[in-house]
Amino acid sequence: MCLGIPGQVVDKVEGYGGQLALVDVVGSQRRVNIGMLSEEEQTGLTTGDWVVIHMGFAVELVDKAGADKALAGLEMMGRGRDQQDAPARERRRFAVHGVVQGVGFRPFVYVTATALGLTGSVANDAEGVVIEVEGAPGALDELARRLHAEAPPLAAVSSVEVEDLELRGGTGFVIGATHGGERARTLASPDVATCADCLRELADPDDRRYRHPFITCTNCGPRFSIITALPYDRAATTMAGFPMCVACQREYDNPRDRRFHAQPIGCHDCGPRLELVTPGAEPVSGQRAVDAARGALRDGAIVAVKGLGGYHLACDAGNDQAVAELRRRKRRGDKPFAVMVADSATADELVDIGEAERTLLDGVRRPIVLLARRPGAAIAESVAPGNPDLGVMLPYTPMHTLLFGLDGDEPGPRALVMTSGNLGGEPIVYDDAEALQRLAGLADLRLRHDRPIEVPCDDSVVRVVDGAELAVRRSRGYAPLPIALPFEVPPTLAVGADLKSTCCVAEGRYAWLSQHVGDMDDLATVQAFGAAEQHLELLTGVTPTQLAADAHPGYRSSAWARTHADGRPIHTVQHHHAHVAAVMAEHGMDGTSQAIGITFDGTGYGEDGAVWGGEVLVADYKDFRRVAHLAYVPLAGGDASVLRPYRMALAHLRAAGIDWATALPGDTALPGDAVLACVAACPPAERDVLAHQLDTGFGCVPTSSMGRLFDAVASLLGVRHVVDYEAQAAIELEGIARGVTSTDAYSFDCAADIFEAAPVIRAIVTDLRAGVDTATIAARFHTGVADLIGDLAVAARADGGPDTVVLSGGVFQNVVLLRAARHALLEEGFTVLVPTQLPPNDGGLALGQVLVAAAG
Ligand SMILES: [Zn+2]
Ligand SMILES: [Zn+2]
Repeated sequence: MCLGIPGQVVDKVEGYGGQLALVDVVGSQRRVNIGMLSEEEQTGLTTGDWVVIHMGFAVELVDKAGADKALAGLEMMGRGRDQQDAPARERRRFAVHGVVQGVGFRPFVYVTATALGLTGSVANDAEGVVIEVEGAPGALDELARRLHAEAPPLAAVSSVEVEDLELRGGTGFVIGATHGGERARTLASPDVATCADCLRELADPDDRRYRHPFITCTNCGPRFSIITALPYDRAATTMAGFPMCVACQREYDNPRDRRFHAQPIGCHDCGPRLELVTPGAEPVSGQRAVDAARGALRDGAIVAVKGLGGYHLACDAGNDQAVAELRRRKRRGDKPFAVMVADSATADELVDIGEAERTLLDGVRRPIVLLARRPGAAIAESVAPGNPDLGVMLPYTPMHTLLFGLDGDEPGPRALVMTSGNLGGEPIVYDDAEALQRLAGLADLRLRHDRPIEVPCDDSVVRVVDGAELAVRRSRGYAPLPIALPFEVPPTLAVGADLKSTCCVAEGRYAWLSQHVGDMDDLATVQAFGAAEQHLELLTGVTPTQLAADAHPGYRSSAWARTHADGRPIHTVQHHHAHVAAVMAEHGMDGTSQAIGITFDGTGYGEDGAVWGGEVLVADYKDFRRVAHLAYVPLAGGDASVLRPYRMALAHLRAAGIDWATALPGDTALPGDAVLACVAACPPAERDVLAHQLDTGFGCVPTSSMGRLFDAVASLLGVRHVVDYEAQAAIELEGIARGVTSTDAYSFDCAADIFEAAPVIRAIVTDLRAGVDTATIAARFHTGVADLIGDLAVAARADGGPDTVVLSGGVFQNVVLLRAARHALLEEGFTVLVPTQLPPNDGGLALGQVLVAAAG
């Protein structure tokens, strides 16, 4: 590839011996000499061809990909030069015409602009949508492209007029009023990972912010987690206590500067400071603090690190002893830890990274990406025991970058465990005084700073399925981006569920989901929930006039709604109906048609008092019909059976008519005394009590939970008998099923409105007797469930149901299942809607509650 600027041929110019062509170069047309191309290329040259231009000559004919590559190369090289000659920023107005109102166009613009590090505003006007944005010229070009290429499904962009404007600066974004009377909203941005320019300055000894752990600009840095009030300016952030020095103020006031009106900026003279606190020693500050922390990590210490949205507990991910000690102190059981590595090249050594995954990994949101672990990766086994995946993230603050060390620094660990600073189950610690108490027994040292965190915000977690992002936990980098709603809703607060709790406020055509709060099983989490809700109301200006909550009478979230309703009506929403509604809303279904909702999860309160979780609904927002469900089996002793999958295995064996106690006839392949692994896992005394419970129904609730069926199968196969975090058994079952291509699948028994797992359980036992390996059995089970989903949808459609299918519920975090189910449905000609922006688990439930409450 030659060095040059790419352009697209508009036309050949008459005369000049056929040596000139008119070429569009980044929006402006230039005459270019094509004499250096081969004669064949000259003759064949036609409108739309791409050429690389150097010194006025077209030097090479390339395809679109080649042109993009050339441009990307130029942008990289041009960065340094841009600083001196040209303004680093431009401001442009885009007037967008077409069907762009009422189709979620403004939130789309806001989300896209934020992702590109642009600031400004978007508003409807009489003719369409007007966008004013400023930022790096390349990012503005990219926005222009995406306005066409990635507009929301219901939008039709007919034209975009572009105009250059005077720079205004700033780090905020405003969604403007409609001419109608809807009020303007200033929206807070999510926290954004350190940009390339700031990283370059961070490592440049000649820059005045060399090694400044809080370097930031208009394109990056903290936002959501430091905003204390609106409108958003420095005084309304936790940077209020850091008056700018003269040099910073000069940058802040200069329209040609990358820090023009950037609220959180600072420097070594005026910004926040780092400090390493070691018990019994004088604290050290600045670069010495970072160096000492890195050294301590290398030596096996556990360090509490104050980051963007709270404290992490960090240790060397390659040091088994350190990781095991962290587990012990955190009382963490087997739940996997995420790791942070310095860059994506290091990540390549640990995990397999696809194209879409890499984009997420080093994008501005910097979530934890779940990736398949490479065999032999240099990570302690105790980081993610029994788990086929590893959660990996890259540094997202300058302090993280410094913690890994710049070129020439004493090296630290290659990979750091970075887990929320808390005891298992409690919310993340973010307050310094609290950290002193709650982290005292957990960390050996504390790397802290004096910029307060206004609201805690955990790391987000995502994975990629068939090239598309699937949220697992939507938090830092995503909250508080709005979600466009398919119709107007009154000011509403939805409180979600008790696990993976989030809340949602909504008004008009927007909904805002809070950051991840945690499981509502202790007082601290309930309090954190209240704080998150308050902050969200403050940032969005929504004053809810009604509430929505799960129909479960015992949920703490529902109780919270009752306590805080203050006379406002509370709509209760059936759990699985909310799951289906959330996905319908994400995909812009406007409520005029229904979908077949296949919602598989662990637990949800059913209308008949049973624990639902293997449900087929035909639903719109207003109402739903339960058209089929997994046959009930008794769930004996509630939580006991959730934590001990062998109990579910025994319940399913009994429901399938298989005797636990007798050695299986004809069995030679089963280990030991030929008793199934799940039976052996259950202590004899417990087995007797369980048998009695199942016989009499004492202490039992009927359940149609698909999550529990996955648990049962995991125990049947001897994969996992006891869990200590949610979905552990299913995750490990998925892990062993991966990579097995099995054509034959187990079949469920489908009667009119009930599908039975009994034949599947019997087939699994037969396969176990025949010595079939567990990976094959696990794969056959996954394929069986996917086939079942296809059959259920076909049956619902034949019964007059629609041909759109929604897949939702925590079971669909299982990539093997989600992929196979989607393919099965596509083959039957269905439109398949799956969660993308919001997690399929209860973390996305609150959005569905908003829509159901509004429609009802
Ligand atoms: Zn920056
Ligand atoms: Zn300063």
